Amino acid sequence: MTDVFAPTTNSSEYAEQASTAYRAALSVIEQVEPRIADATRAELADQRASLKLIASENYASPAVLLTMGTWFSDKYAEGTVGHRFYAGCQNVDTVEALAAEHARELFGAEYAYAQPHSGIDANLVAFWSILAHRVETPTLADHGAKTVYDLSEQDWEKLRRAFGEQRALGMSLDAGGHLTHGFRPNISGKMFHQRSYGTDPETQLLDYDAVRAAAREFKPLVLIAGYSAYPRRVNFATMREIADEVGATLMVDMAHFAGLVAGKVFTGDEDPVPHAHLTTTTTHKSLRGPRGGLVLATKEYADSVDRGCPMVLGGPLSHMMAAKAVALAEARTAEFQTYAQNVADNAKALADGFLRRGAKLVTGGTDNHLVLLDVSGMGLTGRQAESALLDAGIVTNRNSVPSDPNGAWYTSGVRLGTPALTSRGFGTAEFDRVAELVVDVLTNTQPAATKSGAPGKAKYVLADGVADRTKAASGELLDKHPLYPGLEL
Ligand code: PLP
Repeated sequence: MTDVFAPTTNSSEYAEQASTAYRAALSVIEQVEPRIADATRAELADQRASLKLIASENYASPAVLLTMGTWFSDKYAEGTVGHRFYAGCQNVDTVEALAAEHARELFGAEYAYAQPHSGIDANLVAFWSILAHRVETPTLADHGAKTVYDLSEQDWEKLRRAFGEQRALGMSLDAGGHLTHGFRPNISGKMFHQRSYGTDPETQLLDYDAVRAAAREFKPLVLIAGYSAYPRRVNFATMREIADEVGATLMVDMAHFAGLVAGKVFTGDEDPVPHAHLTTTTTHKSLRGPRGGLVLATKEYADSVDRGCPMVLGGPLSHMMAAKAVALAEARTAEFQTYAQNVADNAKALADGFLRRGAKLVTGGTDNHLVLLDVSGMGLTGRQAESALLDAGIVTNRNSVPSDPNGAWYTSGVRLGTPALTSRGFGTAEFDRVAELVVDVLTNTQPAATKSGAPGKAKYVLADGVADRTKAASGELLDKHPLYPGLEL
């Protein structure tokens, strides 16, 4: 098992250095706002004591965490490497160039843009660069839109008209797509006319013929692939073929599975980068870096991606770009490849553990880093299951399942991922035990009626003693695999 928390040959020295750094940092913070120092200590204690199964979370290394807390935070650097709107950016140039170089080398991309502050920003940069690259953009005033600060729904209509009524086709939310893929609560849903493709009603797997048929009929400018809650791999060569057939730009959002691409678990048709025109990602999920985003692109899109700042981004977060560079350097190691393979093996072990105990999984299993447990057969909503698990010290999140009768708030599913606990060193036997604990909690949870006696979607009763026995059992697993071993505050 790899140990990102001890990358040097002398791991105890590394832990000791990190301990010294954090002790010093906390005592400096303490002198200004002790409650923040206390909350920081409490957060570490909580993270150490919980079974973190949130598929989008991970634990960054001390090297990555320490890089975030520097004076690079103080520097403005709008523009791009060597072409800034502020003086004195030579060190930011070094940082941004290194982050981009690592990203290009790691993913085999022609171009990399390290400035996006988050995944949502990376997608916004990609969308605007596709529009800028492919669409003649008349001024909004030509179309009678008011100021950009005060857009009504009608103005959005005008805005869409100004951009030629452009269309985006992405995966539906209940099949595992993401809000930023053209859904109304997100600005992407206002910029584009959106249509979504789902999964096969029987197998719950992505149906490429249905995607092709939707693309032929809808003729999108952008075909979006990628997901937040789909437990399977995607054939990006086929998605590109579909995009080419209808003249669409293929944009892949690999926010969730970037670590599996970086770690060479997803190769060939399953690696989005050689197939997509633009690939976006977060850096903090399976990639195990700092919070942030990246855009990878082919050369033809590079210039328009470079306009991300000031088009939709403010000044770059140089301290975060520095931390991205450190995390990407970590991801280029052989150890990271072992980690990524372990993430996938552990997800399989978790899925098998559920199936052997009679639980139902969306698509019947997994071949990436997450499983989606359908709890409707247990008589629970996702919300009830998530809450009962949290009472027992197991941190997950509720999630819609395809055609979910309980909607996006209560849901019928629970999403569980393996990246974080794999970073702690959990292996397949431990993940089988995790499946056992989760099933034990859920089979001992009953929905509770609301005050009016109607069946409740939020309230539940967890049988006496289950939370305590689960915490004791998971405590044994967690003690065996400490978070940041040797790091003492
Ligand atoms: N894209 C996908 C597929 C995601 O799952 C997420 C986050 O959950 C995002 C984008 C947005 O990332 P961020 O929270 O960094 O904005």
